[in-house]
Amino acid sequence: MDTDCLFCRIVAGEIPATVVHETDTTLAFRDIDPKAPVHVLVIPKTHHPDVVTLARQDPAVSADLLSAAAAVAEAEGLLADGFRLLFNTGVYAGQEVFHVHGHVLGGEPLGPMLAPR
Ligand code: AMP
Repeated sequence: MDTDCLFCRIVAGEIPATVVHETDTTLAFRDIDPKAPVHVLVIPKTHHPDVVTLARQDPAVSADLLSAAAAVAEAEGLLADGFRLLFNTGVYAGQEVFHVHGHVLGGEPLGPMLAPR
């Protein structure tokens, strides 16, 4: 655990969150500032700053994270109409919290992935 990390502190139970799914290695909770009717963050319980670091350091937990995201999408009723799974990574993507998290977004048409160029 990184004591300065917001999401490590959620894993530790020090900061409240609305948890919707949990496994031995992952936690999923609702985003505090939702950008869609369903907006859930799926994280590994162990600290990795971004998805690249996680993929390199722990392929097994990387797979767990994808499975957890799929389980959340199913539990939230998103499989029929589709959803978006998004990992902001680094400065250009606007990553704000440096504990890897997948955004599960859905519940309505989400529009283009990015603003048209
Ligand atoms: P990112 O820009 O990909 O790093 O996304 C960080 C996300 O964390 C944003 O969507 C925030 O709304 C969300 N967030 C920040 N603090 C909390 C919190 N305490 N509980 C739940 N979500 C949070």
